[in-house]
Amino acid sequence: MTNQDSILLENVTSLKGVGPSVAEKLANLHLHTIQDVLYHLPTRYQDRTRVLPIGSLQLGVECVVEAEIQHAEIKFGRRRMLLVRIADGTGPLLLRFFHFNRSQQDRLQSGDRIRCFGEVRKGGATLEMVHPEYKILGSEEISAVEETLTPIYRTTDGVHQATLRKLTDQALLSAHQVQELIPAEYCPDQYQYRLIDALQMVHRPPPDADVSQLTAGIHPAQQRLAFEELLAQLLSLKKLRQRISLNPSFPMTAKANLREQFLGGLPFTLTGAQQRVAEEISDDLEQNTPMMRLLQGDVGSGKTVVAALACLQAIEAGYQTAVMAPTEILAEQHYQNFREWFEPLGIKISWHTGKLKAAQRREMQELISSGESQLAIGTHALFQTDIEFNNLGLFVIDEQHRFGVQQRMALQQKGERDGHLPHQLIMTATPIPRTLAMTAYVDLDLSIIDELPPGRKPVTTTVLSVERREQVIERVAQACSQGQQCYWVCTLIEESEVLQCQAAEEAYEYLQQTLPDLKVGLIHGRMKPAEKEQIMSAFKTAELDLLVATTVIEVGVDVPNASLMVIENAERLGLSQLHQLRGRVGRGSTASHCLLMYRAPLSANGKERLAAMRATNDGFKIAQIDLELRGPGEFLGTRQTGLVEFKIADLLRDKDLIPEVQSVSEVLLESYPKQVDAIIARWHGEKLVYQQV
Ligand code: ADP
Ligand code: MG
Repeated sequence: MTNQDSILLENVTSLKGVGPSVAEKLANLHLHTIQDVLYHLPTRYQDRTRVLPIGSLQLGVECVVEAEIQHAEIKFGRRRMLLVRIADGTGPLLLRFFHFNRSQQDRLQSGDRIRCFGEVRKGGATLEMVHPEYKILGSEEISAVEETLTPIYRTTDGVHQATLRKLTDQALLSAHQVQELIPAEYCPDQYQYRLIDALQMVHRPPPDADVSQLTAGIHPAQQRLAFEELLAQLLSLKKLRQRISLNPSFPMTAKANLREQFLGGLPFTLTGAQQRVAEEISDDLEQNTPMMRLLQGDVGSGKTVVAALACLQAIEAGYQTAVMAPTEILAEQHYQNFREWFEPLGIKISWHTGKLKAAQRREMQELISSGESQLAIGTHALFQTDIEFNNLGLFVIDEQHRFGVQQRMALQQKGERDGHLPHQLIMTATPIPRTLAMTAYVDLDLSIIDELPPGRKPVTTTVLSVERREQVIERVAQACSQGQQCYWVCTLIEESEVLQCQAAEEAYEYLQQTLPDLKVGLIHGRMKPAEKEQIMSAFKTAELDLLVATTVIEVGVDVPNASLMVIENAERLGLSQLHQLRGRVGRGSTASHCLLMYRAPLSANGKERLAAMRATNDGFKIAQIDLELRGPGEFLGTRQTGLVEFKIADLLRDKDLIPEVQSVSEVLLESYPKQVDAIIARWHGEKLVYQQV
């Protein structure tokens, strides 16, 4: 049987209980066919197979307990609640209900036996469960606990777990049609599971299944599926890369004229690492296939100059170039830098942000479409459909981790002319741990700047409680009195930009009053671009001593004379973000300091993160720790792109599978092209659409 006439590809509406409205909801979960349902795997399990003694309960665990009700009472505090105290001879447990009615209250009488399922939390004197599921056990019936682990599926509004269980039950009836797509000799021995058995096991673990393995996600059946899912991910990115490479690009002969003039005008010489990566990029640009290269270099390693060299090669060969950055501030900074560097060479630059007035915008668009502008610099605005390049040959994206694959593709498409695609250079300061790089960025070649410009001094980091604010302010005063400049960074408060800006405004007022001798400036995301530009240039030219800022200065901002950075509420930020921020200092010749202020009490995770910041300046180590503490989705900032949202695989847990996945993917691409497409389709379904080039 071919895949085409398989029942697995039938629409979900052919399942019992799925009409148009349910189908619509299932579409939110990307469930369109029976196959999609079959591969909608449980994200975790609840263990209702055994009753645990209360004395053995651990925090955070979901479990079943059975006990006698000792006491029930309504408490009137800030909120009215029903508290039920139960005990099973090994210890007491408190059940807490905020919503309850009279009859519930009556039924929870002392003396009865009760069975509850819920998450164990820390209460006042005893452990507790908040709103557990529960059942009063009559003396006659001793109802059984569940025989198997209860699968929990990712769901969406209006679709219950019970519904998903019914649907997967039905889909499993068609599981005999599932084809093995990995040729047997390449399926590693340790995952001896047949696919069909693995699916059955994962959806409906039998009573004798190893509960602890399944809960940890390391059961061989789960690993068999994770292996194939990782394989699908790798294959789809490799195919993407192949498809792009089939397109011709614009070969750019490396004439040295402009580049030599440019280098001659710089106040420094390139580091060895900069020279090496510039050479790699230059070679790529000479090719007739589109460059797809990731330039990775720690904060302050000098990526911008390397990008400038690439642009010059393209411009000298007669092509347009584009440089895009994720924030207005960073884009503005590039605009200033490149103007300073390129205008003496007679190169015309245009400027593009969402905030331009209509007339300016039209003017800039005109510069691009006519071909007069040789370099376009801007934010996401460069993606907009009303921007048409005349002959784009190279685009550079700074700080890649904020852009998704789709956006990269969109820009590449934009430059397409007669089937030719422009070259792309992606730059990031976030070093990507090897396991992630092998799966997330296989479509890119990698160049690494592993050397900082000479004379940089490592930044000394101190962690201290907000109670010592006065001392911190004293440090700021001292540094500024010695002619240095400082940043004072106010961080995100509950994800709200408005609140963050408010916090910065308050800090600004306060610091101005407390430090009347200093010239203090304020910059945040809600200010007008012109205001921001003016403040930044005042800080650059040292008209300001102290710059109070929100995290808008996180990426790229470059003021070498700034040698002290204070970060408020540092515990709220991710490590990579802190590292980026801290990278704003330590760029000049004076020893630099970073003061991380936190508000007590710190969580264990918070302590670990701040300790890591104090311990190292090495972006690579920080990235590794960040990945372990936060997981890959947060880390790559690609939660929305679907890039690392796996159904069952977990890049950290399953990293040992990756080398094997890597080698199997090579074999399949080489010798089993049909299987490749089928594997990708069954794991990614319609999510692949965006990857069509
Ligand atoms: P990043 O890699 O973080 O983007 P930048 O490109 O902003 O770093 O460079 C940081 C600073 O280092 C800039 O002021 C830049 O002019 C300077 N710089 C770059 N390369 C060198 C070098 N080889 N020697 C000295 N300074 C350099
Ligand atoms: Mg930069």
